[in-house]
Order: sequence, then structure tokens, then C-alpha cells
Amino acid sequence: MAELRGSHGKARHHLLTQHFGAAGLATLKGYQKLGGYDTLEKALAMEPKALVDEVKASGLRGRGGAGFATGVKWGFMPPPDGGPRYVVVNADESEPGTSKDRYIIENSPHMVLEGILIAAFAVQSHQAWIYIRGEYDRPYRMLMDAIGELREAKILGPKPFGKDYPLDIQMYRGHGAYICGEETALLESLEGKRAQPRSRPPYPAVKGAWARPTLLNNIETLATVPWIIKHGAAEYTKFGTEKNRGTRLLSVSGNVRKPGVYEIEIGVPFTHVIMELAGGPFEGRQIKAFWPGGSSAKVLPASRMDVTTDAEALAAADSMAGSGGCMVADNSACMVETTYRLLKFYAYESCGKCTPCRVGGNWAVRTVAKILAGEGSRLDLQILDKIQAGLQDGRCLCGLGDSAGWVVQSAMNHFPEEFEEHAVRHTCSVKRERAAASA
Ligand code: SF4
Repeated sequence: MAELRGSHGKARHHLLTQHFGAAGLATLKGYQKLGGYDTLEKALAMEPKALVDEVKASGLRGRGGAGFATGVKWGFMPPPDGGPRYVVVNADESEPGTSKDRYIIENSPHMVLEGILIAAFAVQSHQAWIYIRGEYDRPYRMLMDAIGELREAKILGPKPFGKDYPLDIQMYRGHGAYICGEETALLESLEGKRAQPRSRPPYPAVKGAWARPTLLNNIETLATVPWIIKHGAAEYTKFGTEKNRGTRLLSVSGNVRKPGVYEIEIGVPFTHVIMELAGGPFEGRQIKAFWPGGSSAKVLPASRMDVTTDAEALAAADSMAGSGGCMVADNSACMVETTYRLLKFYAYESCGKCTPCRVGGNWAVRTVAKILAGEGSRLDLQILDKIQAGLQDGRCLCGLGDSAGWVVQSAMNHFPEEFEEHAVRHTCSVKRERAAASA
């Protein structure tokens, strides 16, 4: 893809990361020097509904995993009834292979906070909560410092920019469970309870935190809002595809030369992401597989790197855009071993609330372990196939069960010969090649 350069020496499609690396950007002074919080001031002078309409018109979709239309979600909030209503920010970035929210916070915490405050005003909330992953110590401290600066500057308080509209942001640190990233489990945790997903309906917009109307959005989603309100929805829709507007950040990890976080225009192919931005495989190796949207997305073989980064194309390829974490494996990876590791993760992180996930996940782990130990048979492959089917398609309360099923289903689907080799012939050609290469 040709790189279009803008006035800041970065690619034209660098909307969020445009100022990343600028001196003092993490401080209020540095952020304001580059026009920071001008958009919040502008937003506070607008009608809240006009803000919701602008975000709707931009076509922005959530960047946390589900990819739901952000403006539509904002529009689900019921009219104010005089009681509290909340914005809850999901900063519990726990999906394996995903680190782009952390990257945004560590580069520009005030951009995140500005987006949160615009969203709060748009949905007529006075109180926002940031639920941040417990392990994210530096991002937590940076956000706390930035919130402190906002309080001192009275941008947080009873009259931000002189507007009689009190605004406040509080932080809450998570306790290290993957399931806390699921929005209703996050709300349970925020309320001080054990993090287990809730049955829906009611949805959080109607009955969310402390049973009050709640807007839940992800860090990257909200960090995009200031750009949209500043430049207008029409400008934003010039980027991306018809159904997936704008840009997004992808964190690329695994067997590539230049792992890292990259802002891409939605719709570029994964060949561009993996082979150009991330530098492709190491010398003498070939890309074998990739998970385009975190470990919860179905794995795809290297032959599908031509698939584009928009949700529709990925769904057509039987995977998903997910959390923006692209994990790459080269030909030194055994797909049965990889499946085992991912399955262990999902089984460990199961909250235990529903039977297919609690029992099926562990059963799948034991079956793959048996196959890896050279004690499997064709019957074990049939059992695995049954287990993965039992985990999917609404049989579980939340997406974790589906993800565990997809790990097995997609790996067996794209790499059947490796499973066959392990289960029936009790051997691993990848391991043999690895041993030969290191001999
Ligand atoms: Fe808990 Fe798993 Fe059920 Fe989700 S699918 S609610 S993690 S048991």
C-alpha cells in the first residue's frame, strides 16, 4: 500500500498516533500545546444529541472486540431520569497478543481522557469509571497523574471550561482475570463482586453499573472520538471501507522481525501488516499461520494473508477482527502444541458459571495433552471435534466458551494433517525439523 504522508511526517492515515512521540505529550501542558481539550470545549458547547449523531455518522465501530457501532450504542442510553448514569471504560486489555490500548494510554493519556469526557457529556453522564487491568501499572499511574492534572486545571470538577456541567473520572484496578474484559463481568467486578458475566437482557445501557444506565466503551474507541468531533464525521469516513470506517491500531506479535503496534487504515490486507509493517518472518523461516484478532479469533493459514483487515472480509474468511491483536506463527510452530497452550489459557480463565465452558474446556485440554503425549488415537480427534462443537453457537453465556471451541475447530480445520500425525502416527514433523535445524 502506498504511504500517504501528512503534515506531521507520518502516514496520512495516522489519526490517533499522529502526535505520538511529541515532547511532553503525556502532560496536560504538552497535550494542550497541540490543541488538546479544544475539542472537549467545543463539544461542551454542542447539543449532546448532535455529538451522538456525529459519532453515528462517522461509522466508528468499537475497537474492543465486538465491533458494534459506537454512535448507535451511545443512542441506546435512555433519557436522563435525574438519577446517576455512568460511562465505564474498558481498559482491561487481557486478550493474548493485544497491547494497543496500553500503547495509546502510555503515549497520550489525555487523548483518552478527552474522549471519555466528550462521551460522558454526549450521553448526559457526570461520572466516568476507567476499569484498568491490574497488571497495567504504568498506564494506571499515567492516567492517575493525568486525572490529577485535570482536577487541578478544573477541567474535571463542577464547571469544566465554565460550563455548568460537573464531570469526574475515577479509576478502578482489575484483579487479573481475563473474564473481567467481558463487559458484564467487568461491571460485576467494578461493583466489588466476583467477575462473572450477567445474563442479558437487560443490557448495560438500561441496567449497567449499580443497576443504572451505563455506556461501556473500549480505550481505543474513546480515544478516536476527539479526532472525529474535531475534524467531523465526513472527514473520518474518508478512511477505511464502506462498513468499517477509519483506522485502527493492531498489535503484531509472534514470529516476525518487527513486532509492535501499528496504526493501519482499515481495509489494508494482512500481507501489508505482517510482511511489510512487521517485517515478515526471520531468515530461513516462512509464515505458517496467523490469528488476525487476538487468540479468540480463529486461526488462518498463511495462504489467507491476502484477507483484508475489515470485519466483513475477516468474517467471510471465517475469522474476526476481534481485539486488534495479530499473532503470527512461522513454520517452527507445531499447531497441536499451539492449540494446547491456547486451550489451557481458556480453560484456566473460565469463570465456571456455565457447564459447557467449565467442563468442555478442561476436557479439551486433557484430550490434546493425551494426543501430544503420543497416546492418542483417531477416536480422540472425534472427541475433540464433539467438544469444540459443544462449546459454540450460544451454548455458553459469554464469548469465552466460543473462543475455546474456535481454537480447536480452526486449528483442526486448517491443519488437519498435524493433528492426524500426532494422534494416529504419534509423531511430529515440526519437532523433527526443529531438532534437525538445531543439530
Ligand atoms: Fe464463565 Fe465460560 Fe460461561 Fe463465560 S462461557 S460465563 S467464562 S463459564
